[in-house]
Parts: sequence; structure tokens; C-alpha cells
Amino acid sequence: MGKGQSQSPAWQIAPPPQSCIRCGWCVIICPEGAHAAGLLEAAQQQDPELADRFGLDLCNECGDCALACPSGLPLTAAIRELKVSFR
Ligand code: SF4
Ligand code: SF4
Repeated sequence: MGKGQSQSPAWQIAPPPQSCIRCGWCVIICPEGAHAAGLLEAAQQQDPELADRFGLDLCNECGDCALACPSGLPLTAAIRELKVSFR
């Protein structure tokens, strides 16, 4: 690479984050004691029992989990979909 040429910026090299890395931030931050990562899994599996187990009824849809998620996962949207599907 010659002088004056710059490397691609990091955002062009790094793959976009997509997967849950099991960091636990969504659980730590939840003011209601729900488990957003588990609820996302319940939404992906369309599993109402899993949704109950991870506290679907506790969630107030504040959005804090989605803001905290380093993988940028659409946690609140998934939870809303679960509520529409199973309630
Ligand atoms: S949106 Fe629901 S699961 Fe996420 S932090 Fe708020 S109350 Fe908890
Ligand atoms: S914050 Fe995101 S990456 Fe971390 S455990 Fe929750 S869903 Fe997974």
C-alpha cells in the first residue's frame, strides 16, 4: 500500500454483529427481571413455554435491553412480536 493510501475503515472490514454473544447485559439491565436473550430465543423458536419461562409477562417494553445489546439484536421488537403471537 503506497503512501497516502489508507486502509479500509474498520466498519468496512468487520462483519456486522448478528449473534448473541451471551454477555448477559440485557439481563443485567432489565428493570423488571425479564431475560431478553431468552425471549429472543423463544421468538426464534416460536415457543410460548420458553417465553413464559423467560418472563414475557414481566417485560414493560422499555427498550433498555436492545440499547444495551452489543450485538445490536432487535430484542424489544422480538418481545413485542411474542406478545402479539402468544397473548
Ligand atoms: S424491554 Fe422488556 S426485557 Fe427489555 S429491558 Fe425493558 S423490560 Fe426488560
Ligand atoms: S445483550 Fe445481546 S449479546 Fe448480550 S446476552 Fe443479551 S442478547 Fe445476547
